[in-house]
Parts: sequence; structure tokens; C-alpha cells
Amino acid sequence: MIDMLSKAKAGEYAVAAFNILDYNSTRAIVNAAEELKAPVIVQVSVKTIKVWGYKAIVSWYRELAEESPVPVVLHLDHCKDIGVIKSCIESGWTSVMIDASSFPFNENLELTKKVVKLARPKNISVEAELGEIGGVEDDISVNEEDAHLADVDKSILFCWETKPDLFAPAIGTAHGVYKGEPKIAYDRLEEISKRTEIPIALHGGTGLADDVFKKCISLGCAKINISTQLKRQFINSFVDYKNQNPDDFEPVRYIDYQYSQLKADIEGFIRLFGSEGKA
Ligand SMILES: [Zn+2]
Repeated sequence: MIDMLSKAKAGEYAVAAFNILDYNSTRAIVNAAEELKAPVIVQVSVKTIKVWGYKAIVSWYRELAEESPVPVVLHLDHCKDIGVIKSCIESGWTSVMIDASSFPFNENLELTKKVVKLARPKNISVEAELGEIGGVEDDISVNEEDAHLADVDKSILFCWETKPDLFAPAIGTAHGVYKGEPKIAYDRLEEISKRTEIPIALHGGTGLADDVFKKCISLGCAKINISTQLKRQFINSFVDYKNQNPDDFEPVRYIDYQYSQLKADIEGFIRLFGSEGKA
């Protein structure tokens, strides 16, 4: 992921990171990226690992990505459990996120350092978080009062001490669905990006306006996470197909329809983030 994101940052585009739910959604992500010749990140939440297990997810990834003409990263999303991170590293993930942002600063620092030490010798990239991104992610709910932005000086110190490959400072975006317009701290984003020189990950991508994405990319965001939109499409595509075809009980046609709907959404984000043709 390191090479993928430094190219993105230099070229002022962002690589899209989509959360998978099963094989069908993984296939939609990789195939969309191949059609658009784009690098892509397949991202997995801890709760998705709990459903399928490490081996199954890695087997989908290998089958789809190993011979793919485009670079595909398998990334662990928000995780504060070192045991899960270790298992991902051993099972074949190529990138992990340590999210110890709910802990006090020094604990976050120490845990992040520990993960970097585990991952770096194996060439596995590490994303770290500071501040608290609002909304619900992996059953952890951060309400608006508790969500707080990452402090600039602390961000510099944190990145200097831990040396992550990718940094996710809380800058005003939130997980889930936005109620009203989010206030993005562009100044903070710009300063953190300039002073750390580390590619920035933008969380809570679903529901942001096109010009917000473009501005964040121009200020240093090289990875943009999309989860909620795919979760909704995953369910809505089945419901829509059923409503349109009430007498059809052939699951394969539902799966095909879901695949094409997910793929269309994914292609839209890849184009929007400017990574089409960058593989
Ligand atoms: Zn996130």
C-alpha cells in the first residue's frame, strides 16, 4: 500500500478503499478496479472476519487479486485488538489499521508503535488514527459530543514517534449516514498533511459531496474509505430485485443483480477519486 499511496499523493488522486461483506462484494470491487485500470483497497471490518474467518477471506482475496493486472491491497479496518492484527498478518493481509484512538494519547502511541514493529519487517503497511471519528463503526458508537478532532501538534508528535505508513486524523467526517452537512476542518487537514508528509486516510466517505472529496484529495488524502454506501446497496439490491420480480425465487439472479449494482457504485467512486487509469 505504501507505494500505491505515495503515487496517489504525488498525483493528487485517491485510492478507494471499500469494505467487503462477502465474496460477491469482493468480486465486484476487484472487477470494477480491473475494468477501470485502477489500484484498489479491499478492506475488512473485524465483525466481517468474525462471520467468515481469516482463511476464507484470504482465499477470496488471493483468487481475485493474485493474478489481477491491477494492484489490490487487503487491509484490516479499525482494530484495537493486537491479537486480531497478529492473526491478519499471519493469514495473508497486506495492510492493517491499529485504531487505538479511544485510548489516552500515550496508550495509543505505544500500541501503534507495537503494531508498526510487528508489521514493518513483513512489509505490511500500517494505518493509525488520532482523535475520534464520530458515528458507528464495527458496533463502536462515538456520539457527537465524544467525537473530537485530531490536534495538529499532537498529530505531528504521534506520527514522528510511531511512523505509520498512513495516518487517519479525525477532521470532522463521521461513519454512517450524515445528518446535515459535515464541517470538515480543512486547515487542520492541510497542516497535518504538510507537516507529517504521510498520506492521509479519509474515513466516513459515504455521503460527502463531490467537491468535498476533491478538496480533501488536493490537501493530502490519498485513501478514501467507503463502507456505508456498499452496505446499503448490498441490501437494497436484493429488495429492489424482489420488488421488480416478485415471483422470482432463483437466488443466482439476485446475486448477479447485487453484483452489478455494487460494481456500478464502486466504479462511480473510483472515477470520482481520480484513480481510473492509474494502475
Ligand atoms: Zn473508519
